[in-house]
Amino acid sequence: MKLTIFGTGYVGLVTGACLAEIGHDVLCIDIDEDKIAALKAGIVPLYEPGLQPLVTRNLAAGTLAFSTDAARGVAHAPVIFIAVGTPPGEDGSADLGHVLGVARTIAGAMDADRILVMKSTVPVGTADAVAALARTVLSERGLAHGLEIVSNPEFLKEGSAVADFMRPDRTIIGTVSGEAEAVMREIYEPFNRNHDRLLVMEPRSAELTKYAANAMLATKISFMNEIAGIAERLGADIDQVRRGIGADPRIGHHFIYAGMGYGGSCFPKDVRALIATAAANDVPTPLLGAVADVNARQRSHLFGKILRHYGSAAALAGRTFAVWGLAFKPNTDDLREAPSLDLIEALWAAGAKVQAFDPAAGGAFAARYSGRDDYRLVTDRYSALDGADALCICTEWQQFRAPDFEEMARRLTRPVIFDGRNLYAPQRLAEQGWAYYGIGRGL
Ligand code: NAD
Repeated sequence: MKLTIFGTGYVGLVTGACLAEIGHDVLCIDIDEDKIAALKAGIVPLYEPGLQPLVTRNLAAGTLAFSTDAARGVAHAPVIFIAVGTPPGEDGSADLGHVLGVARTIAGAMDADRILVMKSTVPVGTADAVAALARTVLSERGLAHGLEIVSNPEFLKEGSAVADFMRPDRTIIGTVSGEAEAVMREIYEPFNRNHDRLLVMEPRSAELTKYAANAMLATKISFMNEIAGIAERLGADIDQVRRGIGADPRIGHHFIYAGMGYGGSCFPKDVRALIATAAANDVPTPLLGAVADVNARQRSHLFGKILRHYGSAAALAGRTFAVWGLAFKPNTDDLREAPSLDLIEALWAAGAKVQAFDPAAGGAFAARYSGRDDYRLVTDRYSALDGADALCICTEWQQFRAPDFEEMARRLTRPVIFDGRNLYAPQRLAEQGWAYYGIGRGL
């Protein structure tokens, strides 16, 4: 099938490459000329495991193409996926500027029936709003082509996006059109062989499903962080508590880790956007408000431990901190709302310097903070420690899990670890002479 994707970010590019891989003829459109130039040259401009070979293979096979020409994208296919960003607006609500802009472009260029598939995370009612906007543009052009808007929210996780897309837990199709449903079934049929993972529902339910899923996951994290605060004060270990509650199948082991607070491009913005949607419709959301508040507090928790260890903010001036992990989670280069940034900016504000290592996100960090002279990026984990006063761990990359502690102690000026990801056994490190601070396992 011929398909067009608008937006070649984490979602759009993975969607395009995976749909090409299973045999569709995919054209990806983006307004970012540098990104499209790189992609045309076969260079994937973001870090996502397994994505590069898919792009390389399908570009060579001619099943995947890239362009900045929106009209060509509209002409290419009867089904057009919208996967552009929906960043938070000033009041926390989702900024639909890119989505509505693409809808206007498509309606302004289409000369036959089209199905628009909304992959971006958009507030409830957006499918209706997009349909109304596109129909207005069409009628201004004196046209009455058929137009269906399908809500098809994406649930992939950065870091395992290709695997998630290829083996989805479920595929949500929000439409009341039997014809659109049949087309969506055909597109996703190769992912749906083992058992039927397609859940067809009314578009508003599909839109809310995406926000509800992210809000539930964010709630689990804030819940564990709140319990971690209690554990810390009362001498319990949140990691033992986690195992204890996770063993109950009604709770489960997934997504119940205390840490530095949730970050990334989705949870913070989606929780805020859901609160904003509810508020605009006079629905109180005290639980979601608390989830966001706990998270905001948690993001400065590790810095609070650093302050307590050294006695005051003034005592941080002139010190150097090693940082392991910048990305908001492992296996991505994405720095959007990464908790590491809050910690590093707090250290900078206190006059400290940073020596950081991240296996993938160093480039994004350098681009974000170009011009600053109070950090150094290094290319291996141990070099970050050289001459530093302490190590801060912000992302649980695999390569941080079992390091050589003797080597680390030799390189640091003092054996001190502030671990925002609870990677190590406190008792063992204490026996080896480390001052070790985790989350929810001792003050
Ligand atoms: P992104 O910022 O990585 O990519 C968005 C892309 O859209 C950019 O390349 C941008 O240049 C392009 N774009 C903007 N306006 C455009 C236009 N008019 N025409 C063509 N391209 C345009 O964003 P992302 O992380 O891929 O997220 C996209 C959407 O998917 C968001 O709504 C997000 O909430 C949702 N989502 C993201 C994830 C994730 O893990 N990143 C997961 C599920 C859903």
